[in-house]
Amino acid sequence: MTPEELRKAALAYHHDGAPGKISVVATKPCNTAQDLSLAYTPGVAQPCLAIKETPADVWNYTSRGNLVAVVSDGTAVLGLGNIGPEAGLPVMEGKAVLFKHFADIDAVPVCLGKVFNEKGRTDAAKVIETVERLEPTFGGINLEDIGAPACFEVEQTLKKRMNIPVFHDDQHGTAIISLAAIINALKMVGKKIEDCRFVVNGAGAAGIACSRFYITAGAKRSNFIMCDSKGVIYKGRTDLNPEKQEFAAETDARTLADAMKGADIFLGFSAPNCVTAEMVKSMNKGAVIFAMANPVPEIFPDVALAAGAAVVGTGRSDFPNQINNVLGFPGIFRGALDVRARDINEAMKLAAANALAELAAESIPADVKEQLTAAYPADAAAGMFEGESQLKATYVIPKPFDPRVVPRVAMRVAEAAMKTGVAQLKIEDLKEYEKSVAK
Ligand code: NAP
Ligand code: MG
Repeated sequence: MTPEELRKAALAYHHDGAPGKISVVATKPCNTAQDLSLAYTPGVAQPCLAIKETPADVWNYTSRGNLVAVVSDGTAVLGLGNIGPEAGLPVMEGKAVLFKHFADIDAVPVCLGKVFNEKGRTDAAKVIETVERLEPTFGGINLEDIGAPACFEVEQTLKKRMNIPVFHDDQHGTAIISLAAIINALKMVGKKIEDCRFVVNGAGAAGIACSRFYITAGAKRSNFIMCDSKGVIYKGRTDLNPEKQEFAAETDARTLADAMKGADIFLGFSAPNCVTAEMVKSMNKGAVIFAMANPVPEIFPDVALAAGAAVVGTGRSDFPNQINNVLGFPGIFRGALDVRARDINEAMKLAAANALAELAAESIPADVKEQLTAAYPADAAAGMFEGESQLKATYVIPKPFDPRVVPRVAMRVAEAAMKTGVAQLKIEDLKEYEKSVAK
């Protein structure tokens, strides 16, 4: 498709039929006078009174337990930047489509206006106050495309104040999926995460959250060098926000090229084409590169591989090892909602990353192979889905249309929620639960 053809097709997709991509579907009949008197007054008063008597009955008599708000202020939408809440709405509708398609979760876009301060930047307190007030209606909150640094305060405060899961997907979704890819890439090159030297280029929402998460997973903070648009974030720089200060390194390196020398893993959450073949050549043997700037990565996979990198991934669907958030949030929310978790905590996030990593290393059953072959014919032709142990340099994470992904992630997340005491419901048989999600 040419860019012009894509533009026309995308606008027609969003416009034709009913405008937009989502609609509300009633789950109960409303065809007779009797139905009407149950769906609405007078019958509806009965669940109202039951919930007033026993507040937890809200989960039994309303759709709340399967309903997620996708909340954005429109300040960091895709790679488009601060385009505003109305312009961000198609993305939030798209997220609702993915929640429904992959995990049968009902999601509602909530794009917020009038949350800016006098400097035209997001006033975190305004977002917090608004989202906090949504709690009675929803089972979970997916924060989306809210820019740094406001996104950090918004999420941290809401997590403390709300009794339902709050999850900023741009931070943690990416962290979880890239960690899964790192776990398997390191298996392939025979390194341990605690021994690896990391270079993280980009210190925004994604770079900061991912680095924190790799440390939770065992990486050593002293092994990180982070860079922003001005170069290495070193101790002594006076222009650093608190999140960047957290990663200020004791180092003489000042440029990305300095930082890359002898590094084991490069992660890009920054800008197109800022990594050269020379930089890759200066890395340690068995270099792992995830260049996730969208839509143009920090370095293209063919260039990185030719320069000696062992495993390479990007955010794009047209190259192997796509770090795609759709591998995470549907199953994570499915599992969290199904045990009525009060939070999505670090243990649940680690469980999700490990679930994805373990799944990619498993051999693929025949029926799944058939579905993957239909969804990814070129990869199938290249032999990607063959073999006993599945890991390959071109396949360190599962594919989004792998039907095992959501059930496995949901199961591991629910298990971790129960183990860490944030689950309000208990699932007795996790294997059976995984099968039931797959149906
Ligand atoms: P963000 O909050 O705007 O942060 C961008 C960061 O990149 C900032 O710290 C900025 O530096 C830095 N930067 C810009 N140009 C740079 C350069 N030439 N060299 C080094 N650093 C540079 O954005 P974000 O949400 O973290 O996302 C960053 C990128 O990652 C985007 O392209 C996004 O699409 C991509 N991403 C991909 C995935 C995925 O594939 N799954 C997930 C998340 C994000 P300053 O702080 O100095 O401005
Ligand atoms: Mg996003």
